[in-house]
Amino acid sequence: MGGTKKNCMEPLNMDMNHPDNNISFSNKKGCYISRLAIFFLFVLFLCSVAATGFLVFYYHSEVKFAFEEVKEYLGLMGQSKDYTLEEKTNLISSTTMKMLTEDPGRVFPDLSSTVAYSEPEDDVNIVDFVPVTDEHYLDSSTETNTEIPLDEVGEKSPSASSSEVEAETLAHDIEMVQPELSSIISSSFSPEVDRRSLRLPRALKPVHYLIRLQPFVNGNFSVRGYLEVEIEVLEETSNVTLHIADIITHNETVILRKLQDFGNLETLVQRHEFDAKREFYIAHLSQPLEKGSRHLMSMEFEGYLNDNMKGFYRSTYEDADGSQKFLAATQFQASDARRAFPCFDEPGFKATFEIYLAREEAMTTISNMPIVETTPMFDQDGWVWDRYNTTIPMSSYLVAFAVSDFASMNETNENWMFRVWARESALDQAEYALSIGPKMLSHFEEFFKIPFPLPKLDMIALPDFAPGAMENWGLVTFRETLMLYHPSTSSAYNKQLIASVTSHELAHQWFGNLVTPQWWTDIWLNEGFASYVEYIGVDHVEPSFQMMEQFVLERIHRIFQMDSLESSHPIRHDAENADMIAYDKGSSVIRMMNHFLSDATFTRGLNNYLRAFQYANAEQDDLWHHLTVAAHEDQSLSSNLTVKTIMDTWTLQMGYPVVMVLRSPDGVMATVTQERFLQVPPRSQNSQVVGSHSYRWWVPLTYTGRDSSDFTSTKPRSWMSPSNDAITLRGLPPHDQWVIFNIQQTGFYRVNYDVNNWKLIINQLMANHSVIGTINRAQIIDDSLNLAKAGHLPYAAPLSILRYLVAEEDYVPWAAALNNLSYLKRMFRSTPEYEVLRKYLLSIILPLYESVGFEDSTDDPLLSQYKRQKGLAWACMLEHHDCLNKSVELYRMWMAHPKNNSIVSPNLKSMVYCRGIQEGGEKEWQFAWQQYLLSNVGSEKEQLLSAMGCTRNQQILLRYLEMAFTTDSGIRKQDTKRVFRAVASNPVGTSMAWNFIQENWNVIYDFFDKIVIDLIKASTKDFNNAQDLQQVHVFVEQHASQLLEHKLDVQQLLENVHNNLSWMNNYYNVIVKWLNDNGFSRSNTN
Ligand SMILES: [Zn+2]
Repeated sequence: MGGTKKNCMEPLNMDMNHPDNNISFSNKKGCYISRLAIFFLFVLFLCSVAATGFLVFYYHSEVKFAFEEVKEYLGLMGQSKDYTLEEKTNLISSTTMKMLTEDPGRVFPDLSSTVAYSEPEDDVNIVDFVPVTDEHYLDSSTETNTEIPLDEVGEKSPSASSSEVEAETLAHDIEMVQPELSSIISSSFSPEVDRRSLRLPRALKPVHYLIRLQPFVNGNFSVRGYLEVEIEVLEETSNVTLHIADIITHNETVILRKLQDFGNLETLVQRHEFDAKREFYIAHLSQPLEKGSRHLMSMEFEGYLNDNMKGFYRSTYEDADGSQKFLAATQFQASDARRAFPCFDEPGFKATFEIYLAREEAMTTISNMPIVETTPMFDQDGWVWDRYNTTIPMSSYLVAFAVSDFASMNETNENWMFRVWARESALDQAEYALSIGPKMLSHFEEFFKIPFPLPKLDMIALPDFAPGAMENWGLVTFRETLMLYHPSTSSAYNKQLIASVTSHELAHQWFGNLVTPQWWTDIWLNEGFASYVEYIGVDHVEPSFQMMEQFVLERIHRIFQMDSLESSHPIRHDAENADMIAYDKGSSVIRMMNHFLSDATFTRGLNNYLRAFQYANAEQDDLWHHLTVAAHEDQSLSSNLTVKTIMDTWTLQMGYPVVMVLRSPDGVMATVTQERFLQVPPRSQNSQVVGSHSYRWWVPLTYTGRDSSDFTSTKPRSWMSPSNDAITLRGLPPHDQWVIFNIQQTGFYRVNYDVNNWKLIINQLMANHSVIGTINRAQIIDDSLNLAKAGHLPYAAPLSILRYLVAEEDYVPWAAALNNLSYLKRMFRSTPEYEVLRKYLLSIILPLYESVGFEDSTDDPLLSQYKRQKGLAWACMLEHHDCLNKSVELYRMWMAHPKNNSIVSPNLKSMVYCRGIQEGGEKEWQFAWQQYLLSNVGSEKEQLLSAMGCTRNQQILLRYLEMAFTTDSGIRKQDTKRVFRAVASNPVGTSMAWNFIQENWNVIYDFFDKIVIDLIKASTKDFNNAQDLQQVHVFVEQHASQLLEHKLDVQQLLENVHNNLSWMNNYYNVIVKWLNDNGFSRSNTN
């Protein structure tokens, strides 16, 4: 084969200046092998071929292994300890690894660069799971308002804390856009790279991979790898191109053989090329590959367990006895499988994978499939090979493996085994996940009407993990806080989050794994579906959680904010990473479709689609087709209308409509129109009609009236098409009876009415609100407050509606109200009239505070616990003395008895910790820090991290901020953003956080090795004066080239500040006047 044969009696002369060797792997030298050892090796090798090769041959019988001769691999590269000569001799690879030789022709990426960056890129691109709810939804103990970073799903539930928490949805602070802002940004940025140019050529497709990896988890973190990939030639081609990144290999080890009946012929590789930008390895061949032929490419490579939480990476934790332990795990979505092994790293290239993982005997490995056999490694004492069953056809981003000393528990039925893995000292916290996971998996088998196709499913809680969780087929990976639940420490919301994330990832086993998007433009289908179906899964296992009611809060109300920006984007768009639009709007429009089609049609069409494309790839039109066929068969959709016609208006254009219902004087008729809803009233029609595009949707109209109110039927009574300027509805009740549109808010639109109908609705709410369905009460609150914010309705209307809350007992309408009121509070925060608003808000909150009581009861229904949590948190946030005193008292009691876990109820921890620290000083803060270091429970650590940002002591706050960006400070890099947001949402810390970014831009960039746009968003989201806006403009212009990749985010954050300004100009005085007119003033004692 291409390489220079070495005399094994000679030391391997590694040129330490050569780029190949310019890596930190220790002991990477020396060939001290004896002839005897070689002989031994050869014998052992033959055994190896017999044992391990069998499987390969069975899979593709023509394949000849690439190791016709023994290649001693003496790099010992993975070892960091000092070995004796004998040990070194024994370390000779028993695998197919070949000699690492000098290779002047090498054009592969230099591993030294890999080794050099030790700073993690915290933001791994894909985050599978976007937080369904921010804890601030539930908990206003801190003014969190965090924007949920698209890529940081994992942090989704900031139990945020800062001295003023606000229940704010992530996007609540983002409003609409002003055209000139976009142009400022656009002019600063150069054209973006066309993503399509980054795609692999279509001439080849992988059929089967064989991958061997030996990660030195307890050594110097190197990985020895060997790859074989069987390739089918679809079109004649003279090169083989695949993805590779952060890996080195050697030209001479790359071999390409034609697979045929009468022996395998090698095709010469004339030239090797590495395209760093596109992360391509390209083998230029001496002759073209014939269409229809099959070939086997093999190569050896070296990788590295990075600490960037992407690709194949390392993680660490402290064991119960205080010793430091290491593990290795993977995170591949969207395009990081190529960092673990060379591959065709696009979702459309499905293939089977046959994986071998080497480990030390004391460790365990897990991967997508079960282990077939474990065999000792030749002469490598203490090491074994785990060989895995070949997978079914799958995309590379769903491959996964982990090497750890974790412990596990399992539950088994006749079809599959379900296991949970965690640090041994935290394994008991995985009991809840194990109690719900198998039930959900079984339920999804029924829901999708397709059995789970693998013999087992593992879930593992990782101490360092960038996304929230990842749905790798048969091996789901989680952040600890999203899988581990400690009954006496974790809050009810933690429990719901674990149920939701588990359900989401299990739903992906079908939607995403079995049928996969052809390309990332359709990633929203994966995420939208999983985000919708997760509610169905949780509802099945935990019906008391009332997940279907929570959906409108967690998904629709939240994304309504972001999607009412002019700088929003369509659900389907060309981006590798799914963002909140994909998760929240995606799930919302799928829910809408479920309701207009009916459950029966929806599930049947879905099942047909999954069966048609299982083990393959699909696009959204494929799904629309199968749903249309089912809908026409069931007559749930008119024969001249298709699902595609309707859904294209929701997925291919951004935004959503507000539907205006104008009733006739006698009330029995209504004229209904639609227009795009924007958070700031458009100054021209430009936002409604862009170019030749007019913003109109297919709108399913559902409604009910006072005469025969029915809040259960969600079947459309009429459709409004994009071509209708207006439609007329007849048969409505007389003018003294209300009508309410958008039953259960199943349609993704807001509704506005004429004044008379609003009055009727308000009167009904005041007289007997329970006549109107719970979800619709939340809808009316959210719609009316946002219609007022956008200038469609006088603020007096929603503020009058809120008066009925005194009688409201349900959580969902309360949460809808408070999530919106937090915007008013944040805008007023630094103004002279804040005190007046505070009195008004207290007048709303105090009845709730009194009714829920300060004593928590974890036996109450979940939503009652949430309601209490919210009521108390708001009272404390509004500085209600009784609440503050009780919180501080509890915190002090806990300080006196730190080991007593029952002093602070899990649901009140976030509030009590925050207020205890806010009202205290250094001593209180240090106590929290010590508890953070000592805790073995992830959710407790998160609560404390957020609460430590509540201090009013500026010195402590600044020190804390600096610690977050200091390696080894005790704060994990995955938590840096949480700390930053806690500081930024503290009124004392907002400008500190913003200054920190401006002054430490390069430090932060180096720390994350990339731009972290969320930090800028978090620190600027409440800016609402001209000076602030100017500062942000200057900052953005100064860093325009670096911010290029985040053009859309930058537009959104600028638009947000601009909108805050508009809002202040338009409504601040209006609201002050309303407050004064209604008895709230600076002087009175309300
Ligand atoms: Zn997902």
